[in-house]
Amino acid sequence: MAVVTSEGSKPIILAENLTKVYAAGHIQVPAVQGISLAVEPGEFVAIVGPSGSGKSTLFYLLGGLTRATEGRVMIDGADFASLSDAERTRLRKHRIGFVFQKFNLLPTLSAMGNIEIAYEISGRAAGPHGVPMDRKYLDHLSEMLAIQGRLDHRPSELSGGEQQRVAIARALITRPAIVLADEPTGNLDTKNSDAVLQMLLRSNRELGQTTLMITHNPEAAAIAGRILYMRDGQIVRETAGGGSAAVQ
Ligand code: ADP
Repeated sequence: MAVVTSEGSKPIILAENLTKVYAAGHIQVPAVQGISLAVEPGEFVAIVGPSGSGKSTLFYLLGGLTRATEGRVMIDGADFASLSDAERTRLRKHRIGFVFQKFNLLPTLSAMGNIEIAYEISGRAAGPHGVPMDRKYLDHLSEMLAIQGRLDHRPSELSGGEQQRVAIARALITRPAIVLADEPTGNLDTKNSDAVLQMLLRSNRELGQTTLMITHNPEAAAIAGRILYMRDGQIVRETAGGGSAAVQ
């Protein structure tokens, strides 16, 4: 089996022969067809491809948001398929931060409220051994993401770029090992896109999370260390991106 990897590495994300077939009525839609890939800790990988090529499905599979029809996903050595739903949710909450195209912030909460609730949902603060949210770390993230002074505002009072930067802070506050970003600049103008991409890159380098970004924008993909090209549910090509120094 062709696993895309560098020699001697211990991948944090490993997909083997990953396949997802959707059943739409009587029609079977093979959205992801036998993908094998390995991502090393600290890498920044972009996955590009035209609409319908299976990028989002791959994102859901790697994030444990949907089950594979065949093949498997290992996150830091744990096989999603062998876990119960509760264990899978726990692994996801503890190891993965998600960033979505539409930001997905709760509209009735302030930016700070959105970050706090994400921390609560992660379960880290719960129980006798719970750890409260690290305010100093939040200060650091806010500074890095240039959202200090914006945290009291609700999403509707923030620009798209600010909302996405709050969403990145929300993803990072739990110190995930992996950040999965699905078209994070898809709703942003060029200026805000550039800022968000630079911040994703900076957090990848400074905080060391492995980052996987799905995009159909070649310019966005170019900041990654490695670019995987999808077509018809398969990875058909791989190139080095401009940020290939991201591998530690
Ligand atoms: P991309 O993110 O690259 O646009 P997707 O993963 O969304 O690609 O879709 C890949 C293929 O799977 C497409 O043909 C799409 O129509 C199909 N597909 C995606 N989600 C579903 C679903 N829930 N049910 C049936 N078909 C789906």
